[in-house]
Amino acid sequence: MPNILLTQKCVRSCPYCFAKKQMNENDGGEVIKWEDLVYLADMFAQGGCREMRFLGGEPTLHPQFADFLAYSLTRDFSVTVFSSGIMSDKVKEDIRRVYKTIPQAAKNVSFLCNLNDPELSPPAENKRVEEFLEEFGAWVIPGFNIYRKDFSLDFLFRYINRYGLKRSVRLGLTHPILRENNSFIAIPDMKGIVDRLLGYLPQFMQYDVTPTLDCGFPMCLFSDEQLGQLYKATKGAPKFTCGSPVDIGPDMTAWACFPLSATHRKSVYEFDDYQKMTAYFNSFAAGIRQEAGGIFKECDSCSWRKNGLCGGGCAAHMLKEIDKEGGVRAFKI
Ligand code: SF4
Ligand code: SF4
Repeated sequence: MPNILLTQKCVRSCPYCFAKKQMNENDGGEVIKWEDLVYLADMFAQGGCREMRFLGGEPTLHPQFADFLAYSLTRDFSVTVFSSGIMSDKVKEDIRRVYKTIPQAAKNVSFLCNLNDPELSPPAENKRVEEFLEEFGAWVIPGFNIYRKDFSLDFLFRYINRYGLKRSVRLGLTHPILRENNSFIAIPDMKGIVDRLLGYLPQFMQYDVTPTLDCGFPMCLFSDEQLGQLYKATKGAPKFTCGSPVDIGPDMTAWACFPLSATHRKSVYEFDDYQKMTAYFNSFAAGIRQEAGGIFKECDSCSWRKNGLCGGGCAAHMLKEIDKEGGVRAFKI
């Protein structure tokens, strides 16, 4: 499911940021044009994709954000907005107007808010986030990116209960970004992360909140008992695979996913249609995985990997090393 970057600007500077490379390489002023958004809507609709996923930076900084939201809804797309929740009063007013004037907004818009631990964030930032959650909490899916070994999820349960957020949490393991410096969880630290995360399962069960793992968690770091607990908490759907979501920048350049954004970029206009674009990046991701292998030497002979149950961790870890040794080779696709 492709992500569309409406802007390359942000209101925060999270140390793990997946979009860091894009934002550092641009002056921050570039925003997607109206005609390109319409082109993507046509392309997605033709390809049977019914969801628009707006990312940034902070997508609500786009001067036409609310118009994009309204336009997508009237074309029967559902819209997921990846936002920090930090936005101006004017943008909030515009969002209110969309909810008031477009009946399908209540059902078809959600905000995936990547929330940072308030203990580690500036108070002024926390205040803005909480104001957003207070008003729009019913449409918010909380997300949290794990980039420290001593992370805490306590605040998420507090926010979910206090502001009536959706009862599901997207948990991301932070990955390195090729040719960029960001904070991420190193391979030797991952087992500790998994154990700490599983320590929160009783709270997930107690508050009826479903944890959702984002890509790149290695399956073998979970014991059989932990896997059983996770299957129960996630209602049978934990995923350990590596997919290629496809990210599309404001200049209509596409790449496989943020950690791989330094390599194999193509203009959306080079593809005849949606199917060809997604097939290209899926094939690229499969090629990358073949070259890079998995994050452990055991991945090469792992039956879970052979059976497609685990992707072998995030390819960006191995590609960083391959890149140091002489560059990521060009794949023939
Ligand atoms: S593919 Fe690699 S990371 Fe995944 S379960 Fe197997 S050994 Fe672990
Ligand atoms: S390489 Fe795979 S696991 Fe890593 S971020 Fe991209 S899609 Fe996710």
